Amino acid sequence: MKIIAAGAMILTALFWSTHRPPVENVSTAREEKARAAGSSKAQNPMADTEDEWRLRLVNRWNPLPKSWSVNVTQLRNGQSIDERCYPDLQDMMDDCRTKGLSPVICSSYRTWTRQEELFNAEVNLLKNQGYSDEKAKEKAGTAIAVPGTSEHQLGLAVDIVDSSYQSLDKGQEDTPVQKWLMKNSWKYGFILRYPNGKSDITGIIYEPWHYRYVGREAAKEIYQSGLCLEEWLDEN
Ligand SMILES: [Zn+2]
Repeated sequence: MKIIAAGAMILTALFWSTHRPPVENVSTAREEKARAAGSSKAQNPMADTEDEWRLRLVNRWNPLPKSWSVNVTQLRNGQSIDERCYPDLQDMMDDCRTKGLSPVICSSYRTWTRQEELFNAEVNLLKNQGYSDEKAKEKAGTAIAVPGTSEHQLGLAVDIVDSSYQSLDKGQEDTPVQKWLMKNSWKYGFILRYPNGKSDITGIIYEPWHYRYVGREAAKEIYQSGLCLEEWLDEN
């Protein structure tokens, strides 16, 4: 049975390698590669049955199904996160505070409806600035993921800021909290998900506040490799 299943998978892979749907936007070879890697991981039926839940790829090319649900643990500030990564998140926050720092989780698990509200608000803001509906949606999608494609909906992502500087912009990287997190988050299973210079692969702007749980083992490897999640999944 195993051999038949493996054969079927290879045939499926071959089919998709030669029958990939047409791509509307012009994209780089790197992007194409990341997209291909992503789809094989994301459509892996094992993705949520064993340890693979930690490595589930969600991006604009690998959306979640609308029926997606996850068991969450509520944090003290009203935020919530996938219950399976809560202990590691708590450890990271505790250790960060022990260093005299003041991290604040400003965003975590989002329902589909919440993601939709955020996305539509950004689109409207851009349309008020003169963008056409189409351009506004395209531009909004680089900062706020299109509903169904946000890691926040997955329940494994947190936006963490420094209490002394809570703007979600590049200035965040200079705060003591980000400096500590960028150096240490991997020890707790979290990676800086949207690093500088990888936007053409992740599809998201540089976000020195968005951390994604992948588990301690993978986080260590990804941190040491300098790759973003799409690239790392492609190699593993
Ligand atoms: Zn985020």
